[in-house]
Amino acid sequence: MREETLTMIPGPTPVHPAILGALARPTVSHVAPGFVAESKEAIDGFRRLCRSEKGQAFVVAGGGTLSMEMAVVNLVAPGEKLLVVSHGYFGDRFIDLAQSFGIQVDALKAEWGKVVPPAELEAKLKAGSYAAVTITHVDTSTGTLSPVAEYAKFLKGRPEMFILDGVCATGGVDERMDDWGVDVILTAPQKAIAAPPGVALVTFSERALARRQARASVPGYYADILRWLPIMQDPGKYFSTPAVNEVTALAEALRMIHREGLDARFARHARIAQAVRAGVAALGLELFTDAGNRGDTLSVIRLPEGVEDLAFRKGMAERGIVVAGGLGPIAGKTFRLGHMGNIAAGEITAVLKALEETLASLGVKVTPGAAVAAAAPFLP
Ligand SMILES: *Cc1c(COP(=O)(O)O)cnc(C)c1O
Repeated sequence: MREETLTMIPGPTPVHPAILGALARPTVSHVAPGFVAESKEAIDGFRRLCRSEKGQAFVVAGGGTLSMEMAVVNLVAPGEKLLVVSHGYFGDRFIDLAQSFGIQVDALKAEWGKVVPPAELEAKLKAGSYAAVTITHVDTSTGTLSPVAEYAKFLKGRPEMFILDGVCATGGVDERMDDWGVDVILTAPQKAIAAPPGVALVTFSERALARRQARASVPGYYADILRWLPIMQDPGKYFSTPAVNEVTALAEALRMIHREGLDARFARHARIAQAVRAGVAALGLELFTDAGNRGDTLSVIRLPEGVEDLAFRKGMAERGIVVAGGLGPIAGKTFRLGHMGNIAAGEITAVLKALEETLASLGVKVTPGAAVAAAAPFLP
């Protein structure tokens, strides 16, 4: 898949022509039988992507931040306590979000690029009780992959609701809702699922749904999952008009994911990530994120000494590759390269070539062809 410009940022990610084709179909009634069938497929395909047998998936017009809000608002009441495990900008967003609903927040924050040790989470859980705990699976600002299976050992069986933000992970990194005892997986389509942005995706476990049902009300109307539950069970019903074309495109994206197979898809992401890491190392670049906790969906890469951020990204764009700048404390010192979704060897080779040329044009010494050669053995 090649487009004029390759958008290699951590979302939105390149959208396959088959998915774009679904998006371009005529906008039909939200109760047309064909659309109802597509909705059911999207809801079911998303639940299966979360590896949840009995969870309830929700597909609602919005985005990743709405899915975060749906998770928090339905499970944590104003005045209750939320524990946030934060590995950067998106982890911190849960703090702001919860506080804006009058929720009391405790946060375990890692230094950027590092992880909160599982033992710290264990100690925090022993010391206090919380209505819920949020974990960001891959924080898109730092590239940090949370050791979710390790955290899950301490969370499983506890009363706290376990909320996992998969916005930069779901569809690119394995997520095992049932095995890990996760209560909510929330995500959005425009990252590793590789569909266009426009919907919030949330799966609630049976236990989480029961927790919401035990509350008389929640401080939300559109974000209240009980208003959506009848529609998710029968998409022919109406609460608020669904993003018809988006849902059709999402159904196609999920079909592609399940056709590839989850294990194969995650293995492909791992190989591509290895290829990127080998390629940038061959150019003398360093990764910002600690080795051992790097997500496979993006790389946060340090700019070499003397290379100016805007000039660098302009050089890449002139060669057809759009990358993202660093966020927060690492803005201007790093760039972020997304490598998730429906991408393959061709895209990575194109990125590495553009990277080599851009660095050379900015006066960095590089060995021609070294990056592509170093990446090649890993490429699928
Ligand atoms: C992108 C992102 C979000 C926010 O999603 P939006 O669709 O931009 O609202 C939340 N969490 C993580 C980890 C993300 O990468």
